[in-house]
Order: sequence, then C-alpha cells, then structure tokens
Amino acid sequence: MTPATGKIRVRFAPSPTGYLHVGGLRTALYNYLYARKHGGTFVLRIEDTDRTRFVEGATEQLVGTLSGLGLGSDEGVFHDEDGHMKERGDKGPYIQSERLDIYRRHADELLDSGKAYPCFCTTERLDAMRAEQAAAKRMPKYDRLCLGLSAKEVSTKLAEGVAHVIRMKVEDDREVAFDDVVRGHVAFRTETIDDQVLVKSDGFPTYHLANVVDDHLMDITHVIRAEEWLPSTPKHILLYEAFGWEPPVFAHLPLLLNPDRSKLSKRQGDVAVEDYLAKGYLPEALINFVALLGWNPGEGNTQEIFSLDELVSRFELGDVHKAGAVFDLHKLDWMNAEYIKALSIDDLYERAKPFFEKDDSHTSRSGEFMKRVLAIEQDRLAKLSDVGTENPFFFAEPELDPSMIPWKKSTVEDAKLFLGKAIDTLSAVSDSDWTRERLGEILLEAAGEQKGDFLWPLRVALSGKEKSPPPQDIAWVIGKEPSLSRIKTALAILS
Ligand code: GLU
Repeated sequence: MTPATGKIRVRFAPSPTGYLHVGGLRTALYNYLYARKHGGTFVLRIEDTDRTRFVEGATEQLVGTLSGLGLGSDEGVFHDEDGHMKERGDKGPYIQSERLDIYRRHADELLDSGKAYPCFCTTERLDAMRAEQAAAKRMPKYDRLCLGLSAKEVSTKLAEGVAHVIRMKVEDDREVAFDDVVRGHVAFRTETIDDQVLVKSDGFPTYHLANVVDDHLMDITHVIRAEEWLPSTPKHILLYEAFGWEPPVFAHLPLLLNPDRSKLSKRQGDVAVEDYLAKGYLPEALINFVALLGWNPGEGNTQEIFSLDELVSRFELGDVHKAGAVFDLHKLDWMNAEYIKALSIDDLYERAKPFFEKDDSHTSRSGEFMKRVLAIEQDRLAKLSDVGTENPFFFAEPELDPSMIPWKKSTVEDAKLFLGKAIDTLSAVSDSDWTRERLGEILLEAAGEQKGDFLWPLRVALSGKEKSPPPQDIAWVIGKEPSLSRIKTALAILS
C-alpha cells in the first residue's frame, strides 16, 4: 500500500476561511510527519474555489501560521524569508483559483465521454424537488431530468447561454469500495450517491472535481484528511474511475470531540490555532498536543512529551485510531506548562515579550526586571499571557489590609516588631547579596526560630496577599528601595 520511500507525496489542502482550525493543524501535521518520516514531499495547496466563502488575506494568514509553526511546505505555497507568499514546484499553480482552465478541460473530457452532463435546472425547481423528497422521506437526490435531454436540446440551451452546472453521472446499482489506512475496508452503494455537481454555474469547479484533478496531477500518493471527508471519498473514487486514473491511498483521521463528546465546534470554545498562539501557547506545545489527538506511538506507551523530531521518527499512519479524540484544554495547559518550564529564562523572555507589550505596567519595566518575574513564575505558568496575573504586586504597590499583616499566632505589636527587624535586615543587604538565593538565606537566618512571626508580615507587606511567592522572591524582583518602602508603609498602617 505504501509506495517506495522517496516517492511519497502528501498534501495539506485547506480552504482559506480566515483562520487555521485545530483540526486543520492536526491534518497538516500528520501529512508533514508522514512526508518527513518517509523522505517524501509535503505539498501545500490552497482550495479556494468556493467564492461565497472567500475571505481577503486568509490564504496569506494561513500560510504564515503554518510556517510560523515550523510546518512549512516543500512544494506548493510557502512563505519566503521575508514573509511573502510564493509558490514553488513544477506541478503548479498550487492555488486552485489559478487553475480554472485545467478543471474546465477535465470537465469537458467527462462531458465528451458521457461521464458527466450539463444540468439546466433552476434553483426553484431543485428546491421544490428536494422539498418533495423530504416530505416523502426519500434521500435528497437529483432526479436526472436533464440527463434525459436530447443532444439537440442541450446544444440549443448552451447556445442560448442558459445557466447550467455540470453533473457527474453516477452509475446505478453498484458498490464503491476502498481500503482506508485508518478505517479499514469502506464500501458505499451508488444508490446513496447523488449526481454530484462538478462545475458550478459560475464556472468554478466544486471541491470534488478540483480535489481529484489536483491530487492526480500533483502525483499525490496518500490523501490524509479528516473524517468529515469520508462521505466524499466514494464520489472521488468514481471520478478517478471516470478519468481512468489510479486513486491514491486514503487515510481518514478521527473526529475531534469536545469533552462532552460532541463534535468540536467553534461555539464551545476556541478552535482557531491563531487564538491559541495569541494566548501564549507555544507552537511546539500545540504541535505536541494535536499530534496526540488521534495518535500515540503504540501499546504501553506512557510518554506524552514529544519534540517534532521525535514525532517524525515515531509517527506511523497505522497507529492512528478510529475513535474520536477529545480535545482536552486542561491537558493542553499542562503540556504548555511543561514546555514553558523547560525553556531557559532568556528564551522564555524573548517569547513572552510580545505579551508584555500589551500591558502598560509591563512595558515600562526593564528586561532584567521582567526576567526576574519570569524566573519566579516560570514553574507555575500555563501560558505566556498569564505573566503577572497571579502576582500583580510585582508591578504595583499592593493595597494592604491591616488585619492580614500579623501572623495568625501573634499580635499587632509582634508584627510591628518583626517588620522593624525586616527593615534592619534588608537595609544591611549589599547589592551583590541582593539575589534570590542569598536573600533567602539572610531572611531565614534573621527569622531564626520565629519563621512564621517574621516571614508572614514581611510577605504580606510586600504582596498584600494571603498567598504569594516567599518574601525573598518578591524582594528580589522589586528591588531594595521598593521593598523597604512597602515594609515601612505596612508599619505605618499598623501604628
Ligand atoms: N479543502 C478541503 C478542506 O478544507 C480539503 C479536504 C481534503 O483534504 O480533501 O479541508
């Protein structure tokens, strides 16, 4: 079933709708992994023939998102180093709206061989026909009125310029079957298949015609796509037959589900990859996460974190499951946090920087300051946009609640005493000792036996909160003068 290594050609063929769906990312990824694994070619083709869904700039954005994720194509549409969209390869153009004459030629070929026919039925007639079929609880299907037109009637109507579509003539009473890599043997009866429209009245091909013609002309060996397209596959097989072509190998990827097992939809949450990136999910975490939506490297595996290279070496199309895959946001958060933990502070800072630029209190801070914040928060961050949200006191003086300042087992007078001691201790710390580690040691030493009594009021004075990182961490981040000033404020409030 698998052509020899080196000959594999797969494609991701998105329709530019304005964003990359997470399911689209998974399809792109599996195609990419399969190509990489087998030394094949990953083609990116844009399927933009549905003019009613055309969104200006959507193709550019999609190509940019894919290349930003490291899933750029080997052939077809790609982003060059300056971020300009270009096409490469000798089987182009790779944007379907630039291939209309090719589809037209192929539609004519089917008309000539009697495998397709023009249909002049008006929308009103088709609507009435469908309503009748629905009322009679019959499958909606074109009744082939125009198949009965004589050659003369057809040529007269064409000469008069009557609006028409071109339909595929689906053979009656037979089976269309194929072996899907994921789903196994799949068979459909042709009675259940409508005479598909191949060319619309605006002259644009439908998905079915353009997809089959392109997959063939672009020498695609494996069509790896979402399960939603499974019902289209028998129509495609019939088209391959009509043209006398060999169909590619098909692999239909399982549905993506919400936690309640309904189909993943925009209504229940974000499905746009761009939205996840904008929230500070790392590209490699997103890739790792979607890789596991429908695949794992086999029985007994417990590994969850995979680099792209590891995915390439472990990925097998045969390990893709049939069962729907639940999109679990908690797992994505966990995985993203794991990736964030593994970054160096400098790398984390570079990646988090665009998120700081959205917040005035962050923008005004130095890189060194922000790196200290990140060092404290790194182990607890689920996503980059969360920086500072748990710990606003890094960026602004906290509001103090006087009743919170004394340690629960001690008095206001004790708290004042210990805050005074904190001022003395911290005032004496030299610049070179103002590090996270040294401050920790110095404060612990000053606390002696009275850890709670000493550290609690200090921590509350610095953070204003019941829960926060330890005082040495906050003092380290905000610096000596601001720390002393906050402690003095707390003292004044208690007096
Ligand atoms: N243009 C289709 C889509 O948007 C492609 C389906 C296929 O891969 O055949 O998903």
